[in-house]
Amino acid sequence: MRATEKAGARPGSHATPLLTEADRLMTVCNSCRYCEGLCAVFPAMEMRRAFPDGDLNYLASLCHACGACYVDCQFSPPHEFDVNVPRVLAQVRADSYATYAWPRALRGLFARNGLVISIVAALSVAAFILGFVGRHDASVLFGTHTGPGAFYALMPHNVMAVLFGAAFLYAILAIALGIRAFWRAIGQPIALDRASLWQALRDAATMRYLDGGGIGCYNHDERPNDRRRFHHHLTFYGFLACFASTCIATLYHYLLGRAAPYPWWDLPVVLGTLGGIALIFGPLGLMIAKLRRDPVMVDGARFGMEAAFLAMLFLTSLTGLLLLVLRDTGAMPLLLAIHLGVVFALFITLPYGKFVHGLYRFAALVRYAREHRAFTGGGAVFG
Ligand code: SF4
Ligand code: SF4
Repeated sequence: MRATEKAGARPGSHATPLLTEADRLMTVCNSCRYCEGLCAVFPAMEMRRAFPDGDLNYLASLCHACGACYVDCQFSPPHEFDVNVPRVLAQVRADSYATYAWPRALRGLFARNGLVISIVAALSVAAFILGFVGRHDASVLFGTHTGPGAFYALMPHNVMAVLFGAAFLYAILAIALGIRAFWRAIGQPIALDRASLWQALRDAATMRYLDGGGIGCYNHDERPNDRRRFHHHLTFYGFLACFASTCIATLYHYLLGRAAPYPWWDLPVVLGTLGGIALIFGPLGLMIAKLRRDPVMVDGARFGMEAAFLAMLFLTSLTGLLLLVLRDTGAMPLLLAIHLGVVFALFITLPYGKFVHGLYRFAALVRYAREHRAFTGGGAVFG
């Protein structure tokens, strides 16, 4: 039986067969409602009787793919209803990154080749930097450079700032336009109310719904655990610490006139080291969890795009920490070029892959908090 022929499907009313299938599942689940205590997806689903494309993307962004509703479902395969909410919502989510991406020409570019594109971009930038420096003064590549300003022996600070500032601003612009498109598609007004925003911030900071209703995420061995949430936290807070480290180092440079590298006890180094360690173990744990998931619940076709973001975070941290340890040795120029290449690739691929999922999820949580308050007359959000 094809997806569009199954009970509840409404072919023709959605942009893709996948959204038609998601509509069918939500229609079945809305009749059943057995899973309403597991996460925010089911209470949000119960507040509506029809599922336009924007609402399906909203529901998909609320899902953490914990797998609990698949394991609990009496209609999951081999039942003829073929209800597989985690996999279908994962596929809808992955499609949404391309649907709302800016510019249009790059939509879908990373969907299947994300890992290869990211690594090729990182190596290309590193090779360009090494080639550029080698042509001007090859001795820089093999020398030992120490003290304030040592990094700028490889590339002048202003060149570095222009190159990476442009990549960063491009990423911010593309991400902002993507979020705007998503926000409009899920039918939300520009104005935000403080209570919903605060509720969404708390839910995102604690990853409240990533627990399968309290018992954790399911893997192929059907023994749920909370490790995915722990590694998500490491990744999220590690990323914030590294971002804070970069911002403080920029202030040091422009406001205090202090050039990197800084001593190990200085704030940018402390934050960068803690964040870097978290960004080694967080993405590694998430990748292991990904490989251990039951294949029937995951979107295997988009593995490359999902793996690319984790791989880029891991490599950024690994090369950054190696640079910290070996910065006073002759390995510094090569390590710095590789680190800069990975950071550049991370920046330009941010708007097209898994990173935007975190932002779309936050937008979905704001909407959920808002509509839940409206639905219950201002009562506490489910959970
Ligand atoms: S996933 Fe299955 S058990 Fe859960 S609400 Fe949907 S149909 Fe019911
Ligand atoms: S978060 Fe878990 S329980 Fe909720 S829809 Fe997704 S897989 Fe199902």
